[in-house]
Formats: sequence, C-alpha cells, structure tokens
Amino acid sequence: MGSAEPAGGRPAPRSQADVCIVGAGPAGLTAAANLRRLGVDRVVVVEREVAAGGIPRHSHHTGYGLGDLHRLLTGPTYAQRLVTRAVRAGVDLRVETSALDWTDDGAVTLSAPVGLSHLQARAVLLATGCRERPRAARLVPGTRPAGVFTTGQLQQWVYLKHWPVGRRAVVVGAEHVSFSALLTLRHAGVQPVAMVTQHPRVQTYAALRWITASAHGVPVLTGQSMVTVLGRSRVESIVTRDVVTGESREIPCDTVVFTGEFVAESELARLGGLHLNAESRAPRVDGGQRTSRPGVFAAGNVVHPAETASAAATCGALAARAISEYLAAEAWPRDDPIPLIPEPPVMWVSPSALRPRQTGVPHGHYILRVSEFVRAARLEVSQGGSVLWSGALKAATPGRSVHLDVGWEASVRAGSDPVTIRVRPLG
Ligand SMILES: Cc1cc2nc3c(=O)[nH]c(=O)nc-3n(C[C@H](O)[C@H](O)[C@H](O)COP(=O)(O)OP(=O)(O)OC[C@H]3O[C@@H](n4cnc5c(N)ncnc54)[C@H](O)[C@@H]3O)c2cc1C
Repeated sequence: MGSAEPAGGRPAPRSQADVCIVGAGPAGLTAAANLRRLGVDRVVVVEREVAAGGIPRHSHHTGYGLGDLHRLLTGPTYAQRLVTRAVRAGVDLRVETSALDWTDDGAVTLSAPVGLSHLQARAVLLATGCRERPRAARLVPGTRPAGVFTTGQLQQWVYLKHWPVGRRAVVVGAEHVSFSALLTLRHAGVQPVAMVTQHPRVQTYAALRWITASAHGVPVLTGQSMVTVLGRSRVESIVTRDVVTGESREIPCDTVVFTGEFVAESELARLGGLHLNAESRAPRVDGGQRTSRPGVFAAGNVVHPAETASAAATCGALAARAISEYLAAEAWPRDDPIPLIPEPPVMWVSPSALRPRQTGVPHGHYILRVSEFVRAARLEVSQGGSVLWSGALKAATPGRSVHLDVGWEASVRAGSDPVTIRVRPLG
C-alpha cells in the first residue's frame, strides 16, 4: 500500500462511489449490472484496456454465453452484450483506467490518461481475471528471440492489432485454451507444426483432439517437456525432451505459443495485503466472495483460474448479491474464515475458505483443479485428522475442473485446524 501522489504536484483528486469494480470482463460487468438492478447507486467499473469486455473481446471463436446469456456466441459478441447491459443499467464504466494500489485509508489509486486519482468506495470488487504463465515464468531457457506468445497475447496481436505473426508455430500445451490458440493461428495464416505437452495425454475433449490430428493435420506430441527456445532475432526452433526416454527432439518453427497454466491476476490483491492461496495466487475468498479484508470482495477467474466466461459471470452475479447485502447491513462477519487447504495433486479449491454457519457457495459446489492426471480415487475433506466427507472421484485431468459437493460444512469445527482437500488412492 502507498499514497501514490504525483511527486511535488497537487494531491490527486478524490471521488466517492458505493462500489468500485476493478476489471470489466464477464465477472466485473455482470456484477456491475446486477448491483444496479439491486438498487446500488454509484457503481464504478475501471478497466485498464481501451475497451471493456475482458478476454472474450479478443477471443473470436464461438463458445461463449451458454451458461449465463443462454445462447452460444462468439467472444466479441458476448463481450459487447455484457457491456451494453452494464451501460444501460447505469454503470459508470471507465476504460483506460488502471487500479494501481490502495491508499492507507482504503481508497483505490487509479491511473488514467488524465492522471492519477483516488476512488473511495464503500465496497471494492476485484474482478481482474487471470493470465497464462508466460515463457519467463515457466523458466524455459534459451535465447530471447521475437515470436514467443501466450494465447492471450497472440489473440490480441491477431484480432485487435491485425499484425502478422509468423509462418510455422508450435503450440505448447494441450488443454482447452491450446485449441483456441490453434484456431487463432489458422485464422492468421500460420501453419501449426506441432502441439507439445509434458502430460501423457491431451487434456481436452476427445473430439478436439481428433479435429487437431485429423482435420488440421497437427501432430500432438505427448510426454514432451520443453527444453529450450533457439533463434537469434527470431525463433528458429524449439527443443523438447521425452519425459520417459530422455531423448531430445528439435522442431523448426518461427513462433511458439505457451498456452494454459493459468495464474490469478492478483497484483492488486497482493498490494492490499489480502491472503493469497499459495499455488494459484488467487485471493482467498469464502462462500460470499469475501476476501480477508473487510469490504473487499473478489469474483471470476481471479478466484478460479480459469473457468468458463459463464462461470465467471455467475460468480460476478453472486458477488453482487453479497455486496448489496453488505452495503445494506454495513456488517462484516467477525469470525475468522477457515482456510481450505489443497494437498497435491490438488492445486486449488474455490471458494478457498468457509465461515461457520456459511450457507451455500457460488456455483452450488466447490471447484477444484489438479496438477496431474488422476484415475479412479477418493476425494476427501478432513480437519485435524477427522474425515468430514469422502466421495468417489472417477478421474481428474489437469486444466479441467472437478466439482466437490457441498453439505459437509456443518461438521467443520470453528477456530481450529484448517480443512484439507486431498485425493486418496482406492483401497
Ligand atoms: C484463449 C482463450 C479462449 C477462451 N475460450 C473460451 C470459450 O470458448 N468459452 C468460454 O466460456 N470461456 C472461454 N475462455 C475463458 C474466458 O475468457 C474467461 O473465463 C473469462 O474471460 C473470465 O472472465 P473474468 O471477468 O473473470 O476475467 P477477464 O475476462 O480476464 O477480465 C478481467 C479484466 O480485468 C482487467 N484488469 C486486470 N487488472 C486490472 C487493473 N489493475 N486495473 C484495471 N483493469 C484490470 C483486464 O484488463 C481484463 O479486461 C477462454 C479464455 C482464453 C484465454
């Protein structure tokens, strides 16, 4: 936290709102429109990009909206509908405005082309989404040539900036989003020469795998870890290693797209001193989307990186209800939330905390993700050595969500050990 005043100049202007929402993706826009419908007056949404809509704005394929708008739409159409709905509801939407930090008294410091300002809101909703881990964060060694992207960067490059990409690309990863990258490469006239994954199998639906291998003729190389990226000014090849035999393979290409492996966009949460979950970096929230800081909520892919846009929107709608109740009662629960701690291979669980007497969670179930393939096992919820719930887990795939039923929360003991979520082998 800091004051972020312009050096030597006049103090940054201050304004007030009932709710400040950071991020105008599906979660933030849906929360904003719903808050207005619930009778909250001054709802401000700040978005650092030049236009609102979040990731769907530059994700041109279809597959959006079924779960919330009940129709199948392309990303930009879906984004536009959410923006229109929010604006018609009377939301104050401010683009090219980044939330940078917090002041000591809890206002949000904003940076826009007109300068710095502070927005003091009665409640803040973090709806900042998530991002794919780029090459640097994956610690892939080699040279630093041009031609290396994440899917998000690739889609911005192709659909928003209309810049040329390259000729031959390797897609690193084989989860849902990796297939979205493949479609974007095709759209940009780039030949995908291979899809490589360190996992033993593709993590998406069999149909998508079939389309990749057969219709697009792209070989899917499983069990291959990335060793290095080579090239002087431009990528010239990548080298992978077979995780079983150790054999290396060089694949000539001029473009590499690192896909998936999402982490929460939680810089603002970190600056605000909010509790973050160790693996996903997501702010810890309870069933009411409340973070560890009074008056601050979080929703969408910043708390579950990365679910569908409809799941993010639904989460935003539920956060809106929780926020309007908080504003009406002006009360924050006094008891400490009990953290839900995932044990490997479980990477994260959302919501990631619960309060005694909590009723319900945003999607009607907990969502969790695993880091490796799991075959028939048991999913177990325990506290201080006592098993609170245990149920069959048919299978789990990295990059795809597993749902954990509600109903065991009443057995959780307040003020004692954290609750652990783990996978147990059968037998
Ligand atoms: C390549 C790709 C393809 C996908 N395909 C599908 C699909 O077919 N169907 C589907 O349902 N889902 C799909 N998804 C997932 C979907 O895009 C996300 O679930 C959804 O966008 C999440 O919404 P959100 O509001 O949580 O976050 P986002 O959409 O990421 O929005 C967050 C917003 O917050 C802004 N922001 C962040 N930090 C700040 C800050 N400090 N100040 C101001 N603004 C800030 C960002 O600029 C962004 O606009 C896809 C995702 C990707 C990456």
